[in-house]
Amino acid sequence: MINNQAGINEKHSERIHHGLDILPSLKYGIPGGLGNKRWTGELLLATYLQASTGQPPSNGLEYRIGDSGGGFDVLSWRKPGDMPRLATEEVDLGIPLNNRAVGAKLSIPFPFYGGGMSFGSISLNFMIARARAAEKLGTYMSTGEGGYPEQLVPYKDHIITQVATGMFGVREETMQYAPILEFKYAQGAKPGLGGHLLADKVTSEVARMRESSMFTSLYSPFPFHSVYSVEDHKKHVDWIKTVNPRALVSVKVSTPTDVDMVAIGSYYAGANIIHIDGGYGGTGAAPEIAKKNIAMPIEYAIPKVHRYLVSEGVRDEIVLMASGGIRTADDIAKAIALGADGCVVATAEAVAVGCTHCGNCERGRGCQVGITRG
Ligand code: SF4
Repeated sequence: MINNQAGINEKHSERIHHGLDILPSLKYGIPGGLGNKRWTGELLLATYLQASTGQPPSNGLEYRIGDSGGGFDVLSWRKPGDMPRLATEEVDLGIPLNNRAVGAKLSIPFPFYGGGMSFGSISLNFMIARARAAEKLGTYMSTGEGGYPEQLVPYKDHIITQVATGMFGVREETMQYAPILEFKYAQGAKPGLGGHLLADKVTSEVARMRESSMFTSLYSPFPFHSVYSVEDHKKHVDWIKTVNPRALVSVKVSTPTDVDMVAIGSYYAGANIIHIDGGYGGTGAAPEIAKKNIAMPIEYAIPKVHRYLVSEGVRDEIVLMASGGIRTADDIAKAIALGADGCVVATAEAVAVGCTHCGNCERGRGCQVGITRG
C-alpha cells in the first residue's frame, strides 16, 4: 500500500503504481510507506528509472525535485527567454579537480563524483558496482572510512581513498593507489558526533578490514585528535602528500556557521578540493536528533563559502565540491549556480540500484536488495 502520509499525494500515486513492478524492493513491502518529503516516492522511482534507461522518465514522473517545500525544491530557474539553445556537442560539463599550479591535472567529464560509503555499512557488491560506474563514466567514487577491499584494486584509478578520524582500514598501500585522498573531518548528517558502525554489521570480513573485533560497535571520534588548528591540519595534508605525492587532497567537512573559515584554512593547508557536506546527507547511523538539525543546509553553505573564498582572492585556486542532499541533476545545476564547482552524490547512487528509503538498514534488519550489509 502507498501511504499518503509519507509525502505522496493523490495525483502522484497512480504514476507510482505504474512503476511498482519496476523497483525490486517494493515487492517486499515498505514499513510506513515509500520515501519522504525530500526523497518522495515519485523521485525514488524516477531516479531508478533514469539509472536503468539513461533517459528522463517518459511517463511523467517528477524527476527533478522533491516535495520538501524548501531549499532546492523551491529554488527554480529564470525562464531562459531568448537564450539560444545549445546543441549537445556544444556543451562541456567537465570540471577540473586541481586548480593549483602544481600537482596532477585531474578532471571529470561531469560535475559530480561518488561520495564515501564505507565497507561495512554497504555491501561489497554495491561498492564494486559504484567503482565500475565511476570507471565507465570517467569519474570517481570514495571508499568511505572502512577500508579498501582488494576487489576494488582493478578500479583504483577511479577510487578516492578516504582517511577518516577512526583511521579504520587506512594503510599506506591503499593511500598510494589513490589519485585523490580524502580527509574526512566531519559528516553533515552528524557534525561533531563522529561515526558509528552498528555491531550487527561488524562481520568477520568487516572486522578484519577494520582491524577490530567481530560484532562490536565501532566508533570514529570527532575530530581527528591530532588536529586542533590550521597548522595541525597542514601537517596532516603534508603527511598525505609524503605518502602519495601524486595524489590530490580533498578535505571533507560539515557545514557549521564558520564553514567559510574552515574552507580558507584548508586552502592554506594545501588542499586541492574543499568538500562541504550539508545537513541533509544520508547515513544509516546518525541519531534522529542530529540529522537535518545541526549542520547548515548546503543551499546556504555553498554561497557563504564561495563568496568568502572570492573575497580572499583564492577562489580560482581551490575546487569547491558540495554534498549533503544532492539528489538530482537539477540539484547539481542549482548548486553550481550558487557557487560550487561540482557535487558529490551518494544516496542517489543507492537509489539508482533500488534503495527505497525503507529504513531497514538503520533498524539493523538488513537490506532486501543487498545494498547494505547485514
Ligand atoms: S539500503 Fe537501507 S533504506 Fe535502502 S533499501 Fe536497503 S535497507 Fe532499505
